[in-house]
Amino acid sequence: MALHEPLPEALEGRGISRRRFVRFCSAMVGMLALPEHYVGQVIQALQATHKPVLVWLEFQDCAGNTESILRSADPPVAEVLLDLLSWEYHETIMAGAGRQAEAVLERVMAQDTGQYIAVVEGSIPTAEGGVYCTIGGRTALDIARQVCSHAAATIAVGACAWDGGLVRADPNPTGAVGLEEAVPGIKVVNLGGCPHNVANTAAVLVHYLTFHEMPALDQFHRPLFAYGQLIHDQCERRAHYDAGEFVEAWGDAGSRKGWCLYKMGCKGPDATYNCPTVRWNSGTSWPVKAGHGCIACASHRFWDTMSPFYKPLPSVPGFGVDVSAEEIGWGVVGGVAGLTAAHAIGSALRRKAGGPEGGAAPPPEKPA
Ligand code: SF4
Ligand code: SF4
Repeated sequence: MALHEPLPEALEGRGISRRRFVRFCSAMVGMLALPEHYVGQVIQALQATHKPVLVWLEFQDCAGNTESILRSADPPVAEVLLDLLSWEYHETIMAGAGRQAEAVLERVMAQDTGQYIAVVEGSIPTAEGGVYCTIGGRTALDIARQVCSHAAATIAVGACAWDGGLVRADPNPTGAVGLEEAVPGIKVVNLGGCPHNVANTAAVLVHYLTFHEMPALDQFHRPLFAYGQLIHDQCERRAHYDAGEFVEAWGDAGSRKGWCLYKMGCKGPDATYNCPTVRWNSGTSWPVKAGHGCIACASHRFWDTMSPFYKPLPSVPGFGVDVSAEEIGWGVVGGVAGLTAAHAIGSALRRKAGGPEGGAAPPPEKPA
């Protein structure tokens, strides 16, 4: 797209009709949980946007979040994202390399300071002065400090940029941390997930370009529209959980019938994310639908707090003894009448343990 080519023409050039563009805007409004009448405002705002500059920094990571955008099976989301903004710097996809690429970043810093959007992917090593990740002779820490503190808005995509992710998991030899911890004081929107879901990232950008502010955030600075609900409460296997119908071994009869994966380690009762509704591959499916438990990739420090991944929810220390969620529920309370109390006790224990956000009631057993 030419630098100031209007968005509708640019999309037309990519074979995306006006009708598909309107459908994209409508989908974004739905994702942001806005009333339908906002569709017109979003369309107008996106058509009038002057292509803000985007700088994408990639640090200690696997490039999975970049891949999540590039391999998006939903062309309008990826294409509109690419055309809405002027992607000036993104190591993995830009044509320039070496000094030429770094000169682009310097130009953006000089010409667009305070106006560009910074996206950060990957954790930031802090041990030994940050030497474990350097680009063009500068540490990731140094680059993040400079670029993010002069941005109009900063988005951390993926688990690693949010809280250090896998790279930060014990024993964390590089001293990796997430962006907010590495550069305290900056305002960041965290889009946790391993990887982030590009539909959520698109919705955040659309909100910002339309209303000139970020959407409402939770205590982890994650947008509430995407991280406000328990996975467990949106899961299509939930009726089996409530009926006490669980998969007990991979490939067993319950597995073939699509029963609940709680006993195979599913962390859906303790994880919040819109994965079950947004899904992947153009909304085709998501891991639990495909037969694998949720490992809570969008939860805080999930490699440490949600593992082992193939065991039911971890034991929760407190009250002098370690008990599992299952013991808290039916061993102690028992019966349907105790469900609400069991939920409250389970949540209290998790809070006491500094555990993950929220949490559902422990599972019932299938009646004999
Ligand atoms: S435990 Fe997992 S599979 Fe079972 S209902 Fe909850 S989210 Fe779905
Ligand atoms: S099912 Fe859970 S672990 Fe898997 S992608 Fe969705 S949120 Fe992440």
